[in-house]
Amino acid sequence: MPIKLLDPQVVARIAAGEVVERPASVVKELVENALDAGASQITVEAGDGGINLLRVTDNGTGIPASEVDLAFQRHATSKITDMDDLESISTLGFRGEALASIAAVAEVELSTCAAGESVGSYLRLKDGAVVEQSRQGRSQGTTITVKNLFRSVPARLKFLKSPATENSHIASVVTQYALAFPEVKFTLSLNGRTTLTTPGNGRLIDSTIEVYGLDVARNMLEIAPDKEWQGGTPDITVAGMVGSPAISRANRNYLSFFVNRRWVNSRLLSWAVEEAYHGLMMTGKHPIAILNVSIPAAEIDVNIHPAKTEIKFHNERQVFSAVQRMVRRAILEPSAVPKIEDTTAAYVAPPSAANQPLPIRPDNTLSPVARLAPTTFSRPIPAFSLPALRLLGQIAGTYIVAEGPDGLYLIDQHAAHERILFERINAQRSEKRVEVQGLLEPATFEIGPQQDAVLRTHIEELAGSGFLLEAFGDRTYLVRTVPACLDRKDWLNVLRELTDAVDGSGNWSEKLSMSIACHSAIRAGQVLNDDEMRELLRQLENAAMPNSCPHGRPTMINLSSGQLEKEFGRRG
Ligand code: ADP
Ligand code: MG
Repeated sequence: MPIKLLDPQVVARIAAGEVVERPASVVKELVENALDAGASQITVEAGDGGINLLRVTDNGTGIPASEVDLAFQRHATSKITDMDDLESISTLGFRGEALASIAAVAEVELSTCAAGESVGSYLRLKDGAVVEQSRQGRSQGTTITVKNLFRSVPARLKFLKSPATENSHIASVVTQYALAFPEVKFTLSLNGRTTLTTPGNGRLIDSTIEVYGLDVARNMLEIAPDKEWQGGTPDITVAGMVGSPAISRANRNYLSFFVNRRWVNSRLLSWAVEEAYHGLMMTGKHPIAILNVSIPAAEIDVNIHPAKTEIKFHNERQVFSAVQRMVRRAILEPSAVPKIEDTTAAYVAPPSAANQPLPIRPDNTLSPVARLAPTTFSRPIPAFSLPALRLLGQIAGTYIVAEGPDGLYLIDQHAAHERILFERINAQRSEKRVEVQGLLEPATFEIGPQQDAVLRTHIEELAGSGFLLEAFGDRTYLVRTVPACLDRKDWLNVLRELTDAVDGSGNWSEKLSMSIACHSAIRAGQVLNDDEMRELLRQLENAAMPNSCPHGRPTMINLSSGQLEKEFGRRG
């Protein structure tokens, strides 16, 4: 639908009032617009609490060149046309006021390109008026940049809190929408540091891991649709996840409610959820919940507050009962546990937790970092990219400490090196340029019948990886060459390990690479000099999957500056 000015009668029916209260309200309006435009990727950037800079980029439908002017006019919208539409709003926006209100109190730049257009549009506005307009090439989607918010309204500026506080309001908005729209990939960057990235794969549990961490995610219970349980409320669907009673919070900040995926404040919904935990949670404690209530648009009224965060249900009792019953059921029926995929879980376990000690201080207590790392504060690191890291040092001859744009990195040197070598070995093998080391004297390798059967089946794969073996009598082989990286290492053990493995399933060449990588990688406890560590970091940065070793264990733990601040209790 094209953008059009609303009829004055419709305007008169729209809840009047200011939507731009603080930077986070700008973010909310822009993110809602991006979602209404069907974006699958939304990036939010804020500088200095959003006062100097706010930018929201999406890959949605874009605004056609013929409509860009209209977009900034008050009461211009593409989402509703008449009174009837107000009764059944299916988009997040409908008032046609946000862009106009934002442009009135800031400098705004719009860069957009609609589907089907070959060139996009650029528009710059000051004090609500267009000061520059041109055509500009860009991919489909929209970027809105808001600078110097409230500079012309000092009274409003004065009301704002510290940049850190405004940042946290912005983060809260983005976080809520990331939970409401797991199919959208959200990225939030505050003062140049990426603080949230969701995978956008449609799984709420994966967004929850990113937002609340693995510990919370592990304790979330899924709300499975069940009309019978829900009682006589056929038009309402309650979906989402709630925390098991074992995890509670001291405030209600962890209650996220969406109605038809609109983020809302609702005392009714809070009450319904808390009622469901009755008798299961101590007084003064509050549960964690992420709930979406789907309900026919005609059953609710969102047009009661300009910020559209308040909502009125026509039949409150029905909504209360549906939510309370469905949450109660999720808590009481243990079968409804959402599955956390192993790969995701693997990223956050402590480095080689099974067999390596954490750094211990002389007084035998765990160092604060070690104490903090493995559990609540470790967070999954995006699977495929690693920023440039600055070396800080080594602890316990085992972990490399480095700094990146998003905080502190603790890297398990053995696991990291294993990953690097694993990728290198695989690449060399597939390009048939494996580096081999010839043995001056061929070594004999004698094995049992079972192992012999394994070895015979895989003798070519062994050769492909650098182990050239020649049959030499019954169950004895002459080893002519070994992979160069295993030179002077315990390559015999690699052969034993592989031929001993009874489980013949899986990709044998891959297992071979893993074993070679494991036996040739730097060990834990090996003191490295700065150059060696830097080289390791550089190679890890170049790895295709730097975050886990070939066995799936994490190579690193990342503690963001925000987490450190939290741990040291220095907020704001
Ligand atoms: P509303 O969202 O209530 O319609 P806004 O002032 O927020 O009002 O936006 C005005 C119009 O500009 C929208 O109706 C929409 O057509 C267009 N628009 C705004 N942001 C975007 C965007 N990110 N992508 C595509 N269109 C947009
Ligand atoms: Mg809008």
